[in-house]
Amino acid sequence: MDMNYPAEAEAFRAEMRAFLAENLPADWKGTGGLPEHEVAGFTASWRETLYKHGLLALTWPVEYGGGGQPWVNQIVLAEEFARAGVPTGGPNDAFGIQMVGNTILRWGTEEQKRHFLPRIISGEDKWCQGYSEPNAGSDLANLGTRAVLDGDEWVINGQKIWTSAGHLANWIFVLARTDPEAPKHKGITFLLVPMEQTGVEVRPIRMISGDSEFNEVFFTDARTPASNVIGSIGAGWSVAMTLLGYERGEAAATLSIRFKDELERLMELAVESGANRDPVIRDRLAWCYSRVEVMRYLGLRAMTSLLGGQEPGPESSISKLYWSEYHQVVTELAVDILGSRALSPTGRRPSTAFRTDDAGAPNSSNSWDMVFLNARAGTIYAGTSQVQRNILGEMVLGLPKEPRADAGPWSKIPQSLKQP
Ligand SMILES: Cc1cc2nc3c(=O)[nH]c(=O)nc-3n(C[C@H](O)[C@H](O)[C@H](O)COP(=O)(O)OP(=O)(O)OC[C@H]3O[C@@H](n4cnc5c(N)ncnc54)[C@H](O)[C@@H]3O)c2cc1C
Repeated sequence: MDMNYPAEAEAFRAEMRAFLAENLPADWKGTGGLPEHEVAGFTASWRETLYKHGLLALTWPVEYGGGGQPWVNQIVLAEEFARAGVPTGGPNDAFGIQMVGNTILRWGTEEQKRHFLPRIISGEDKWCQGYSEPNAGSDLANLGTRAVLDGDEWVINGQKIWTSAGHLANWIFVLARTDPEAPKHKGITFLLVPMEQTGVEVRPIRMISGDSEFNEVFFTDARTPASNVIGSIGAGWSVAMTLLGYERGEAAATLSIRFKDELERLMELAVESGANRDPVIRDRLAWCYSRVEVMRYLGLRAMTSLLGGQEPGPESSISKLYWSEYHQVVTELAVDILGSRALSPTGRRPSTAFRTDDAGAPNSSNSWDMVFLNARAGTIYAGTSQVQRNILGEMVLGLPKEPRADAGPWSKIPQSLKQP
């Protein structure tokens, strides 16, 4: 098996190195080298530079504003950007380009593609994800937000929660129930909804760190044109699953690059502090190293599927489960190695897999304790570890399905007996 990249990809790598040398200061040390208050400003102007040079949505077709480049070039770009310590997009690009953009490419009409995709790339439209609700997290199909057709518009009522970067967005993709009589997975429609209207209220949720990176979003007779359905009415579940595949799996091919970089930074700090002389610390570092190597091979497997034109499916849960659980271990080790130094910037900003952090904001802290805290969320967002294991068991390994609360003998037990 030839593990080398083709000559064209290596030529693109040289192009990327020249681009980085030209557009970053000579003494550039990565976003970690910036004072914390400058990170968000840098990220915004860096995104603009990427846009001007056609380096956002590199693999999308040219007619929709994309770069029309092969997948392998996207991987090369991610490698070179990780080495330089710069993000591959802005704070809402994971929701815009990676999630809803790829989903529109897969399910949208020609008109929707021509309208929405260029606006995602230009940054005119900034997106967030309206999936979770107070009563619908892991059991997403339990969602209760309603949408009713009124002439040529949908009228939406309900509430979403944990909406990351919702305060920075002007569009939200919403899973709404459009047929309450249908079985719960069948009556759902995938809607694109403008946020700048009186019927949409965004309320920030304040976290233990003092930051507010996610929100509650309330819809009170909010409206969107009838044509803003992706896929067909009542068939939103399949569209939602495509999007989750991109959310969990699209980055799989390149994740190990960032984790390797992060681990190397940690090893340097261990050497500096002398912690590397402790055999237990060495053992833990070696454990992390071997996990990142496994991730590299998982990444090569993901790369092979992408290059073969396959869209990420349920197997993307392998990558999601693996990196999120690994990240909790390595950041715990970082805190053990650094002690109280973990609380202040070390000048070596860990490059985490957290989607908004990847873009440099809003988790722009240079300190490892914040990365440690963010890693706790990694096994929850985009589906918890338990949910990933269920998906892998049922949809990848073909094991029997877990018993459903609303089916089988359990469903016949009166509600009063289930809830004491
Ligand atoms: C940082 C962060 C950002 C987020 N951003 C967004 C966003 O932008 N948009 C959005 O829509 N949502 C977002 N979420 C929400 C996220 O998708 C949900 O938190 C997640 O799906 C879990 O749902 P829940 O919190 O309701 O927990 P629950 O579903 O109530 O789960 C509670 C516990 O029960 C376990 N559990 C539940 N069902 C099963 C089962 N069948 N088998 C075994 N165990 C089970 C879970 O694993 C978990 O441990 C975000 C969450 C976080 C932490």
